[in-house]
Amino acid sequence: EAAASCAKLDQGSAKDLLGGAKAFIFDCDGVIWRGDKLIEGIPETIQGLRDAGKKLIFVTNNSTKSREGYLKKFLSLGLEISAEEIYSSSYAAAAYLKAKNFPTDGSKKVYVIGEVGIMEELELAGIPHFGGPEDASAKITLGKGVKMPHDEDVSAVIVGFDREINYYKIQYATLCIRENENCEFIATNRDAVTHLTDAQEWAGNGSMVGAIAGSAAREPTTVGKPSTFMLDDIADQFKIDKSEICMVGDRLDTDIMFGQNGGLKTMLVLSGVTREETLLSEENQIHPDLYTSKLADLLPALNE
Ligand code: PLP
Ligand code: CA
Repeated sequence: EAAASCAKLDQGSAKDLLGGAKAFIFDCDGVIWRGDKLIEGIPETIQGLRDAGKKLIFVTNNSTKSREGYLKKFLSLGLEISAEEIYSSSYAAAAYLKAKNFPTDGSKKVYVIGEVGIMEELELAGIPHFGGPEDASAKITLGKGVKMPHDEDVSAVIVGFDREINYYKIQYATLCIRENENCEFIATNRDAVTHLTDAQEWAGNGSMVGAIAGSAAREPTTVGKPSTFMLDDIADQFKIDKSEICMVGDRLDTDIMFGQNGGLKTMLVLSGVTREETLLSEENQIHPDLYTSKLADLLPALNE
């Protein structure tokens, strides 16, 4: 008996999909590119979808770049898109605080564990913030009776992927959260592992969020995939009905869950981290509507 209820994309289902979806949300790494390399057939497919009048949104859980940073990456890969079509988890963190009316008058601040992407998005949103790259070489001072000072105006801590995370940052974030029960604890994403390079799996932001959750004794609000915050904001901004969106991703627990949490049509591509064997195994509980080897498999139906 078949464990999975998902179907392999064929010409018929591709045409149905294109007929029903007015908008596509694409995950980036594993769908559009792998690391710094464009996946086969992407420029033609994106052009084809645009010509067919589809709205396209590019979503990534990688918080290390801002939307502007991703725009440069898209352009460097020869893909012409606009910043508004990009929704990164770094932008999601800033959008979340904006939606919560985080004060911009300096009365409250955000402490960041993360890289420049989050700092740039907070800057653009006018939200006072510190930490991140500035604390790359900050050290704790241990001594009898010596406390680590922290700014009591911090009312949100954002934890994103940070290749320069250290004990100082962990302690600082912990103090902010533990000593102020109203301090927001925000995770850009909780990906267990990432593919910084294709040589192996690398510890993802789940490890950094886990470090803070472990000491803060609280769970964060996740703003990236698979959270519904991101999807609701996208549907709002683009004025699209969720019933008309297809989510395409390479990961079951972030992308496909994200789509399913929001009631979207979902398609898994095998050009990233998920192997067909895993998808079809009895243990897998997350079943996309459709799956195929790569996004460009939509081309024949688009060109017909
Ligand atoms: N986080 C980091 C640090 C990454 O390097 C990646 C992928 O390269 C991701 C998250 C996942 O990104 P995406 O959501 O585009 O697959
Ligand atoms: Ca991905």
